[in-house]
Amino acid sequence: MSQKASSSRVNVRRAEVMERVEKEIENHYQSDLINHIRASGNVYNLGHTEFHLAKEFGFCNGVRRAIDIAYAARKVFPTERMFLIGDIIHNPEVNRQLIGMGVVKLPWGQMVNNCEKLEANDVVIVPAFGVSIDLMNRLEEKGVHVVDTTCGDVMKVWKRVKNYAKMGVTSIIHGKASHEETTATASRALGDRGTGKYLVIYDDNDARMLCDYILGKGNKEEFLAHFKGAYSPGFDPDEDLEELGLANQTTMLKTETQHIQNMVRQAIIDRDGDDDNYFVYDTICGATQDRQDALKDLLSEHLDVLFVVGGHNSSNTTHLVDIAKNIVPTFFIESADSIQSLHAIDSFNTTTKKVESMSTPPVVQNLGKPIKVGITAGASCPANLIEAVINRIADLRK
Ligand code: SF4
Repeated sequence: MSQKASSSRVNVRRAEVMERVEKEIENHYQSDLINHIRASGNVYNLGHTEFHLAKEFGFCNGVRRAIDIAYAARKVFPTERMFLIGDIIHNPEVNRQLIGMGVVKLPWGQMVNNCEKLEANDVVIVPAFGVSIDLMNRLEEKGVHVVDTTCGDVMKVWKRVKNYAKMGVTSIIHGKASHEETTATASRALGDRGTGKYLVIYDDNDARMLCDYILGKGNKEEFLAHFKGAYSPGFDPDEDLEELGLANQTTMLKTETQHIQNMVRQAIIDRDGDDDNYFVYDTICGATQDRQDALKDLLSEHLDVLFVVGGHNSSNTTHLVDIAKNIVPTFFIESADSIQSLHAIDSFNTTTKKVESMSTPPVVQNLGKPIKVGITAGASCPANLIEAVINRIADLRK
């Protein structure tokens, strides 16, 4: 019988390593201009252009920690083959830097095949979103060194859904079924015995279907077809919607999550006469919440235009755009390179999910007119990219 290899989880954050890592990260991602603006009340004047930055924006602690760990891993294992599962965070620039350090990216959706290629003593970086239990077990079997950057706030959600499984309660996860974090969370909702149940719902429409079913108004086949790929193995809506525990992807929009929680609670009350079979635990992380609150404050500044900087696949950044887009002309850009001119900006449309070339409003193009430009950025966006955006706009408004 062959002996199974066993992976080792490695703590690479050693004092002597971190000292070197700090300097490198400062070089790659810090910005003196952004530090200066933060220290001056988040407002920066350049001629007729007044930049207003949100009070909270850019790197959160979880992202910063993940990057620290990945950089430290390269120092501790300078010559070993090193792999990253998917993206470490949802920012193309940060992922590019890691690839530049010789880290090979393994596509997220193909990890079953990718695991076959791994060898004992390879180093595998687990991203900040975490990975499923199955994948962790596979890495274990391969005997690789696992460098785990999973954010502590993500692990809090895991704890909650594992607890629901222990209680025999079905987890209702508000998130995107295909998002890395939600995939990892769903695997934990199966519980220690693998028998737990879950359903992932994404929006109001999903919540409405769920509530209708709770109230006996749904059709089972239609329900299962609609949620295909978003529920636990063997999920039966006739059996598994009795007791429900809500949790959410850490980066969802707070108001939407609360709305969905209220809808489900009301459906249970309408069915049972009380909410004894309803459990809730808000798992939006503090960083996401702070950035959403800070943007709402920023929007009261009567901005002429807003730029939201971050990866187009970043959930928390997308929600910042959704908060603002009906209030002020909003551009969702990945970097200064997205701004060709004030007439042509490559902005990601969060509804069509496409990059569209957009023009700024006439007031922004009137260079003699004083304007207020709002700036914010998602939790995975480095400060140097934000600085470049400010400089680019300032140049075009000269
Ligand atoms: S956005 Fe929240 S969950 Fe994601 S890494 Fe940052 S702190 Fe962690």
